[in-house]
Formats: sequence, structure tokens, C-alpha cells
Amino acid sequence: MIRTFLLLISFFLLSGQVVFSQNDSDAAQPKITTNKQKKKEAKKQAKLKEAQEKQIEKETKDFADEKMKSNEANYIPTYPVATVKVRDSIYMLTGRGGNIGLCVGKDGAFMIDDQFAEGTEAILKSVSNITDKSVRFLINTHHHGDHTGGNKNMLEEGVVIFAHENVRKRLIDEARKKVQDSLEKIYQKNLEKFSKDGYGEDKAATGAKRVAENVEASMKIDNTFPFITFEDDLTFHFNDQKILVFHVHNAHTDGDSMVYFTDSNVLHTGDVFFNGKYPYIDINNGGSFDGYINALSKILMLVDEDTKIIPGHGEIAKMKDVKYTKSMLEFLHSKVAYHYVGRKSKEQIMAMKDITKEFDDKGYGSGFISTEKFMDFIYEDVALKYKDKRVKQ
Ligand SMILES: [Zn+2]
Repeated sequence: MIRTFLLLISFFLLSGQVVFSQNDSDAAQPKITTNKQKKKEAKKQAKLKEAQEKQIEKETKDFADEKMKSNEANYIPTYPVATVKVRDSIYMLTGRGGNIGLCVGKDGAFMIDDQFAEGTEAILKSVSNITDKSVRFLINTHHHGDHTGGNKNMLEEGVVIFAHENVRKRLIDEARKKVQDSLEKIYQKNLEKFSKDGYGEDKAATGAKRVAENVEASMKIDNTFPFITFEDDLTFHFNDQKILVFHVHNAHTDGDSMVYFTDSNVLHTGDVFFNGKYPYIDINNGGSFDGYINALSKILMLVDEDTKIIPGHGEIAKMKDVKYTKSMLEFLHSKVAYHYVGRKSKEQIMAMKDITKEFDDKGYGSGFISTEKFMDFIYEDVALKYKDKRVKQ
């Protein structure tokens, strides 16, 4: 009996494996696995392992996806951009500069103005939340930095920039002026240095001039300006829209354009219209009060009560808001003119707070242009026009 048992044991030891179960209840009963069972078990284990790995892989992917989604939801850019749907596939993006207009669709994205350079990343991220197509065309409504600051970045993205010819001219002039200003500083610094070193007036000046000239040779202005310019108007046929871009003369600047989406009846005015704020009229860059009024009249000829108007600054507006702004400007101008012709002094006129009260109460003076700044501007315009018409005393 014992021999048979030993024989059996040795047989199993040779052919397989004796496994003593760790379970107490059958501790006395050794579990015996054959080679076949072993292979089966190994296969089972491999399958299990594979399944486990797949599960881990899936969980990791799900986690990453989830994380990405929550990151997108919690994405707080240092440059805040808000997206407002205007109508159809037209949007307004607000941030730190002038209102951006955006038309998306099968042909790509069409953008109006690009705010500041530091905003490009956040702006393009907001665009990608609306469309998977990239920005193809960009219009600058005028040359001011809060509408064109992102141009260099956008050009690097491969976007084609359009603007009225004066926008390109003014942007080039500004870039040249920057170079001239820094060259002037270099010249002055070296003039002082050479004078201190004991050189005579002439020699110090010649030396400083030479240094500045050497620096100038290395300071070349890159062509980061609108590639395509126009004189009067342009028409785009894009995203099933007929998009009219047209110039208005000497309004906010001398390079203003407005953009009208004829199919959606949406107009982007650039800074030719500030909604709810006193406007900035840049007379040093070709803007004028009369041109501004004419541009507002042009808007009123184009739009109807259903038109959605994206202003350069402020909230989306309607025709009545443009009408209100136009009559406000005419009212303030005529009031100031009346008192000016009646020989009131600038101080007296500026002290007449009741003239602007209605608009001040609505917050018109809380923007970039304060009531005082705006009244000063109106006064200067009036003084220029009515100098010879003041009543004799
Ligand atoms: Zn502007």
C-alpha cells in the first residue's frame, strides 16, 4: 500500500507538480496539475494578463481624455476671450482690444481685426472651439494697435491680411518711427560718451553718427504688414456669404473699413462706431468729426432694423443705437458751437455739465474717452470751424 502510494507520488513528481492548496479545508488533499493543465493555465493567465493590460490601457486613455476635456473646460487663458454668437455662422470675440468679427464655414474662417500680439494664442484657441478650419483671411478695419497687434503672429500662421492702403502706410510709418527713435537714442548716448572721452564737438558728432549708421544697417523692417491693400472696396465670396469690405473717408482714421455680411445682414463697423461710449476720433491720423458723422450716415443708409451691428468697441448693436450716437454727436457739436459763437470761453463751456448729462448718466464717459476729453475734442473742432463767426462784443 505504502509502496503503491510512493510509486504514485514519484510518477506525479516526474510528470507534473504537486500543489498543496493553501485552503485549510482541503489542505490534506494535494492538488495535482498535469503538463496539459499547466499549459492551459498558462494560456488562461496570459489571456487574463492581456485583458488586464487592455483594461489599464483603456482606463489610462479614458483618464487622459477626461483630463483633456476638463482642462479645456477649465482653460483660463491669461488673455481672456469671450465668444458671442451674432447670427448664422458669424461670431464676435471680445478680449482686450477692439471687437473681433469671425465668419466660419466650409471654406475656413474669415476674421476681422486681431487685437494685441499677446492675445493671438487665446484668440486662435477660441476660434478652434468654433471651427476645425483655420483662419484664411483677416481684415484690419484700421491701423490702431488694439486691432492690428496680432498681425505678425497671424502672418506666421499663414493668414492673408487685407486692409485699406492707408492702414499699411501707417503701420510702416509707425515701424519706421520706432527705428528712428531708437537710432536717435543711440546717437545721443554716443555723442555724450565721445564728448566725455574728450573728443571735440565735431569729432564726437561724426563718431556718434557713424555708430548710429552702423546700427541702422542692421535694423531692417520685416514685411509684417497687410500683404493686400485696396483703395475703395473689396468683395469676398466665402462660406456662402457675399462679404463687402468698404472704405469710409477720414472718419475714425484715414484708413477705416467696414465689413458687411450681406446674406446674414451683419455689419462690423470697426471704430467708426463705439456703442454706448464717446468715440475716439484720431485727428492726428486722418480722422475727423465730419467724416465720422458721414460714416455713421453711411451705416444708416446700409442697415435696416434687423441688422446686427458689431461695433469697434461695446456690445452688439442695432440701427437705433447708431441713430442715437449720431444724434448725440450732432447735439453736442451744435450746443458747443452755440456757446462758442456767443463768446463763451472754453472753461465756461467745459463747465456746462448739463450738456452731456444725459449721456454721462448712461455711462458714455466711462470708456477710453472721458467726458472731458470728448468735450475738449468737440470744442477744438468747433473753434476751428467757427473762428470767424463769433459775435462781436
Ligand atoms: Zn481705433
